[in-house]
Amino acid sequence: MGELSISIRGLYKNYGETRALDGIDLDISSGEIFGILGPNGSGKTTLLRIICSILEPTIGYVSVNGLNVIEKPLIVKEISGYVPETPVLYESLTPMEFLTFIGSVRRIEANVLSTRVQRFAEAFEIMDKMDNFIGSLSFGTKQKVAIISALIHDPQIIILDEAMNGLDPRSARILKNLLINYALAGRTIIFSTHVLEVAESVCNRMAIIYRGKIVDVGTFKEMKEKSGSSDAKLEDIFLKMTGDTDLTSIVNSLGETMNH
Ligand code: ADP
Ligand code: MG
Repeated sequence: MGELSISIRGLYKNYGETRALDGIDLDISSGEIFGILGPNGSGKTTLLRIICSILEPTIGYVSVNGLNVIEKPLIVKEISGYVPETPVLYESLTPMEFLTFIGSVRRIEANVLSTRVQRFAEAFEIMDKMDNFIGSLSFGTKQKVAIISALIHDPQIIILDEAMNGLDPRSARILKNLLINYALAGRTIIFSTHVLEVAESVCNRMAIIYRGKIVDVGTFKEMKEKSGSSDAKLEDIFLKMTGDTDLTSIVNSLGETMNH
């Protein structure tokens, strides 16, 4: 495992009366594919947006590769790539035009940019879609364009919010392999999901977040050992860690997963 990359201490976030994050402490190293796992409304998106300096904390300290996200938001944005839960793309541009635009915003040299766009389009198998209007593309293809746009400047920190959701199994596999390569190259990857199987298959280590608090953190193996049952599934650990609370609502919000 690499050096400490992300450090979070005493992090709280309120939206008016709603407390979305309720005292988060977390360290993530470079080379990790770190999962943030929790049901809908548990605070995953809020946490990710604070890490990439899009949203300010109410209280707390967050540093990314040594940069305080409140003091250095522009540099944090430069070194990170963020795939939002609902990506915003320009429907009347083609992927080629959109990625060229993002590349110029990121000040990537033209020939470097064109090579990268080509490589990503090949990797994600969207070569034949590069000149169609984004508005006409399937959800999965739009998702791939959003992922490419977040990776095009070769970021040190890669933050993906529920990025597997719209992808077919083959594309999900491509993304997973890509993330593994980034991790091996010493990048830091943070990945949120409410889908247990995704966390289990993609992440080295994960935090289970529930109602704005981290209820468990570790590798799947460590979580299994702690749960005291060698054949425990992540689902069992998850339900146990979120404990005596309202199980019905958790099970309902994860129902989508369990039916698959
Ligand atoms: P998750 O990504 O795990 O679904 P979120 O971070 O989106 O969770 O939301 C955490 C909590 O904060 C939820 O109760 C949600 O309703 C609330 N919330 C999120 N964004 C806002 C906002 N912009 N204004 C008010 N409440 C919000
Ligand atoms: Mg979310």
